[in-house]
Amino acid sequence: MSLAEQGDGAGSRAAGTFESTAPASGAVVGVFPVQDAEDVRAAVDRARVAAAAWADLGFDGRRTRLAAYRGCLARRVHELADLVHRENGKPHADAILEITLTVDHLAWAGAHARKVLGPRRVRPGLLAANHAAWLEYQPLGVVGVIGPWNYPVFTPMGSIAYALAAGNAVVFKPSEHTPAVGVWLAEAWRAAVPDVPDALQVVTGLGDTGAALCRAGVGKLAFTGSAPTGRRVMAACAETLTPVLMELGGKDAMIVDDDADVAAAADAAVWGAMSNAGQTCIGIERVYATERVYDAFVAEVTERVRGLRPGTDDDAAYGPMTMAAQADVVRRHLDDAVASGGRIAVGGTVEGRVVAPTVLLEVPETSAAVREETFGPTLTITRVRDAEEALERTNANAHGLAGAVFSRSRARAMDLARRMRSGMTSVNSVLTFASVPALPFGGVGESGFGRIHGEDGLREFTRAKAITRQRVTLPVDLMSFTRPAAAADALARVMGLVHGRHR
Ligand code: NAD
Repeated sequence: MSLAEQGDGAGSRAAGTFESTAPASGAVVGVFPVQDAEDVRAAVDRARVAAAAWADLGFDGRRTRLAAYRGCLARRVHELADLVHRENGKPHADAILEITLTVDHLAWAGAHARKVLGPRRVRPGLLAANHAAWLEYQPLGVVGVIGPWNYPVFTPMGSIAYALAAGNAVVFKPSEHTPAVGVWLAEAWRAAVPDVPDALQVVTGLGDTGAALCRAGVGKLAFTGSAPTGRRVMAACAETLTPVLMELGGKDAMIVDDDADVAAAADAAVWGAMSNAGQTCIGIERVYATERVYDAFVAEVTERVRGLRPGTDDDAAYGPMTMAAQADVVRRHLDDAVASGGRIAVGGTVEGRVVAPTVLLEVPETSAAVREETFGPTLTITRVRDAEEALERTNANAHGLAGAVFSRSRARAMDLARRMRSGMTSVNSVLTFASVPALPFGGVGESGFGRIHGEDGLREFTRAKAITRQRVTLPVDLMSFTRPAAAADALARVMGLVHGRHR
């Protein structure tokens, strides 16, 4: 069967089970149980017991075990990459890149947890000068993680690694399109960390299994996926006031300014838009190029895109779409772009799951291809007067996940990056922020809220705990009914001396 003839992978299922199939061949990758609310609750109960043991290990104990886990991933990288290739459809080399990034994040999270979260003294201030004040970040207990299929290792591990390093146990519901990868990650954990095997568990199933996880009494629900599902997750979590982290979709733009290195910008735009078949939340979907560089940029991009070939062999630039339904979304966006006056410069065909690398020009801002997340190997390029207009159009979108700026002027590029309405921006490259473990990752607006990665990502999976300890007693206690009547006047005088001089 050709690539173009495949049906939707995760659709077929017997009672109580579902199959995951290879996007490239249709071959069954695995059969998995559709776990119900009872199964999910049992997993969360086991996780709660494991969470206590995991927290008791302290930062050092957790750090050595997280190191053992990342060692396991590093040693078995080709085995895992092969599974990602089969189940998700992306080239083996791209799977290795994804796993390498994950290992790096695991290392950073394990190494920095104590410094970021551990107990620290803070200044008690004037009113509590006789007390010691302590701040620490405590684990939430069990964190539920619901993940997508597009980066089946890197994306969920962005929550899992940081939640574990912060001292939580995790119950992970992988996408129904990539359950085998999720199960592999949990089995590798059990092998690498045999003394706390239930600190990372996987439950498999469709949307209902995810909904059950929202209602299973977890301390926080970390969701990565689309905005419509995110709304359903929030509604379910609201029933029990379970806090949520929302990592949602994007419509990321690249701004190419007058003084940009046009060839470098084109190269980055093509990778940012087409790698992983465009199924990247932080993929570049729109480019705004200034009048001065537009023609040269379009020429550079189209030449590079003509050299790309989708397929399933090792030399293919990217694979088939993981979900057949996503190819339909791409087709709708292409049709809408053309119907509203846009022009296809290269590509434009969708055959089954295979989308040709496509460049669209002169597409109106109101078109779905510019407004909505396409999640395919397509790119719109729009001519703008200057970088200010580019920024205005970039920021007009409801999404705000990430983006890129190309300019040779450091000050100008940094200014544009700061004013871009997004959680992350790369200057003179694309997607780089995701590979810097110290940097937070998360969106604005329809792209969600909360942060994974970095110090913010560690704190995301904790609750701040404040403690004061009285060191010495004072003759006058202001917070006692025994205080003398004159105490408040004395306090007001001190306040006047310390703060009253500020005007
Ligand atoms: P999706 O929303 O269809 O599914 C995500 C997960 O939610 C799956 O595991 C699914 O089974 C589960 N789910 C479905 N219905 C549910 C319900 N009612 N309650 C609880 N869980 C439910 O998304 P997808 O197609 O798997 O992923 C693609 C989307 O994810 C894109 O929009 C992409 O941009 C986004 N994404 C965002 C990030 C980020 O970090 N911001 C990263 C990767 C992908």
